[in-house]
Amino acid sequence: MKCPRVLHVASEMAPLVKLGGLGDVVGSLPAALREVGVDARIVLPAYPGLFERLEAQNLSCAPTGKSVHVALDWRVYSAPLWETSVNNTPVYLLEQPELFSDPEVYPRETTPLATLPFAFLSLAALEIPGALEWTPDIFHVHDWPGALVPAALKWHRHYRNRRGDYETVLTIHNLAHQWITTPNALNIWGFVKESFTIEGIEFYGGINALKGGILAADAITTVSPRYAWEIQTPQGGMGLDGVLASCRGKIQGILNGLDYTVWNPETDPLLPAPYSIEDLSGKTLCRKALLQACGWEENDRPLLVFVGRLVEQKGVDILLAAMEDLLSLGTRVLILGSGHPIYERVLQEESRRYQDLLHVHAGYDETLAHLLYAGGDMLLMPSLFEPCGLSQLIALRYGTVPLVRAVGGLADTIIDVDGSPDGNGFLFSDYTPHELRRVVERALSHWHDREQWKIIVRHGMEQDFSWKHSAETYKALYLRLLGN
Ligand code: ADP
Repeated sequence: MKCPRVLHVASEMAPLVKLGGLGDVVGSLPAALREVGVDARIVLPAYPGLFERLEAQNLSCAPTGKSVHVALDWRVYSAPLWETSVNNTPVYLLEQPELFSDPEVYPRETTPLATLPFAFLSLAALEIPGALEWTPDIFHVHDWPGALVPAALKWHRHYRNRRGDYETVLTIHNLAHQWITTPNALNIWGFVKESFTIEGIEFYGGINALKGGILAADAITTVSPRYAWEIQTPQGGMGLDGVLASCRGKIQGILNGLDYTVWNPETDPLLPAPYSIEDLSGKTLCRKALLQACGWEENDRPLLVFVGRLVEQKGVDILLAAMEDLLSLGTRVLILGSGHPIYERVLQEESRRYQDLLHVHAGYDETLAHLLYAGGDMLLMPSLFEPCGLSQLIALRYGTVPLVRAVGGLADTIIDVDGSPDGNGFLFSDYTPHELRRVVERALSHWHDREQWKIIVRHGMEQDFSWKHSAETYKALYLRLLGN
């Protein structure tokens, strides 16, 4: 059987650049694929500060001596290719400081010029086979930043001639971001004007790059089976449900895995004390350290933690509306997140109101995140929608019981304690503060029975959400595409 050669085209990759779950996935899936016999590699932009980060992490990086050249916006942009290896996975870095100049990574607006760096990323990826000795069979692209790879193989005046050379897989990590822009983008990218149709990349008079990618890709995956179905419904389709439903034959939901070399309380160097299912005493020490970090005394109230982006998707609205109720039930709430300035501000104000009960850390802090997962008692994830969600998987492994809304990957991974002897968490359905309060109430009724709580914790910690199974499923998909 052939070993598929797969180039992942991505805008994030932990630990080099991570803004959310996409970074975690690209940081761990290719390595897991290599373990099951796929020659997976990655191409990533060299954002400002990335070379310094490589050095700080003792990762060597060398020029390949080769460059890629891409025509965009009526000029040629070149990028020397660098090569490094992360988790035994080759990573090609595109050095193009003129385009990749924003340390924030993603532009605030989606005009063709503001998003030019990501048009470059996709077209530069298509130039890699000509520049290096190594040629992929498959381009596996992630979300909108890679969507122009399949689209260009169908509609770019030059790359469409190479369509037969490669298969393409598009993974949708989050349909909320689609790269909607103005029609002059086609000219800037070099797309043929026949692409500007309802069966093509056109979208309500503008351009939707993700829609183009969806229609042109040979296979589409989403990060959980439930999300694969949700995005084909008007409630979850973000305006693309019709397009996605018309492609249902090539859509498959494959649950994300978790990298247990990073997320393991037995070996986690960021924790003040390690612990395991057999011996949870370290978790108690982590709890103490967490209380101390908040300037709080122990008072036996259960700690409800939230780690995530402070955006509408994560359910911050109902969390805020339910806050007073949750605290009045006898809990303490700890929030770590960055995102919308209004949410950050309101949460900070609330934390001043409930000083001893609510702690808010606005910002991105990897070390504190680990401490919250370890020191917390329950994880709150009241998401409006959740393609897969990694936080609940991390919480399970760290013995912190997830309380989640039954959507997307949350519904695929959490089994309600009140519905099964194998329960690992608590679910609620309606997106209301009232339902959030009720799920916390239900969880608390179990929390007070400490012996039973230990069983719930144990169920979560014992589960295996590693990449092994998902990597095999991706490999089977690659082999199918290649006709094996
Ligand atoms: P999403 O991809 O929608 O942001 P996920 O649950 O899939 O959500 O993944 C989020 C990842 O980012 C997790 O690893 C989580 O711990 C991490 N994370 C989110 N916000 C922060 C933060 N403020 N500080 C540290 N880590 C964070």
